Formats: sequence, C-alpha cells, structure tokens
Amino acid sequence: TDIKELLLSRIRDVADYPEPGVMFKDITPLLADPAAFTALTDTLAELAVEHGATKIVGLEARGFILGAPVAVRAGVGFVPVRKAGKLPGATLSQAYDLEYGSAEIEVHAEDLTAADRVMVVDDVLATGGTAEASLRLIRRAGAQVAGVSVLMELGFLGGRARLAPALDGAPLKALLEV
Ligand code: 5GP
Repeated sequence: TDIKELLLSRIRDVADYPEPGVMFKDITPLLADPAAFTALTDTLAELAVEHGATKIVGLEARGFILGAPVAVRAGVGFVPVRKAGKLPGATLSQAYDLEYGSAEIEVHAEDLTAADRVMVVDDVLATGGTAEASLRLIRRAGAQVAGVSVLMELGFLGGRARLAPALDGAPLKALLEV
C-alpha cells in the first residue's frame, strides 16, 4: 500500500552497524518526516484500539519514541519497559538471553494491573528476545496481552517463532517485513 511504501522509503540501511556483518535498520529518517511519523503513529494506534488495548508498553529506547504518541492517539496509558536499574520505583525484572550473554529489563509493577490489556510497541523485531521478555513481565504483573506491534520484522532471525509461546494466540503485527 501507499503507507507501507512511504514507511519503507524512510528507513535507512546502515551496513556494519553496530558490528561488522549487521545491516542496521535506521528509523531516524522516518521520525524526521512528519507525514511518515504521523502515518506510522496512526496505524499503530488503530491496531491498539482494534485489539482493545488499555495500555501501550514501549521498549527502551525506540519503543518509547513510537509508543508514546501511539498511546496518546489511542487514548490509553503508556508504560515504559526499561533496561535494568533505570526505574526508581518497585519493579518486576525479567532476564533473557542474548547471542552473547544476557540482558535484563524492568517495569514498574504498579503501572500494570489485572484490568489491563497491553499492546507492546517497538521499532524492530529481530530475534524476539526483548519482546518475549516484555510479555513475561506483562503476564507476571497479572495483565493480559493484547498483542505485539512493530514497524519492521526481520524475518530471517526467527523472532516470530520465538515469540509464539509467550503470545499464546495474541497477534504479532509487523507493518513491514524483510
Ligand atoms: P531482539 O531482542 O528482537 O533481538 O532485538 C530487538 C531490539 O533491538 C529492539 O528493541 C530493536 O530496537 C533493536 N534492534 C535490533 N536490530 C535492529 C535494527 O536493525 N534496527 C533497529 N532500529 N533496531 C534494532
């Protein structure tokens, strides 16, 4: 569609970043283009409303940039999932494996309740490790999962399959796939 072409045209491929052999998808040109950023925000907000979300969880750091305007547009709250050690209040933590080593993310426990249906928003789904850990946090907080929505899915990394058990039937929507 026209929107997909617009979004795709505003994503820049950066070779060998952050390390040799990786083709990084840079979304900063999209953020700098108001027509593209608005189209992306509106599309993700429609998905959130369609799936009955009551909260948007944004994943540090680009998930904050996308998730916050989506939440405002959808008329729901925004909850940041941050790297360990950044949130000042009582948190739930979830560790997950990376290609080399591991990482840990956190959420403020009181920002998600049993009454919430949560849509996770991020820019890129790569291996799916970060999104999977965020779904575990949401379920441990007692909330329901409305789905995961990303701008772009890197299909060759198998994130969709890794995420499937944690999604437990909830939708994974990628506006673009490579
Ligand atoms: P995963 O946990 O799915 O392997 O990695 C996803 C996280 O890394 C996301 O939060 C995403 O922002 C970031 N990421 C991985 N690859 C890329 C990329 O090519 N472009 C961008 N913009 N982010 C990426």
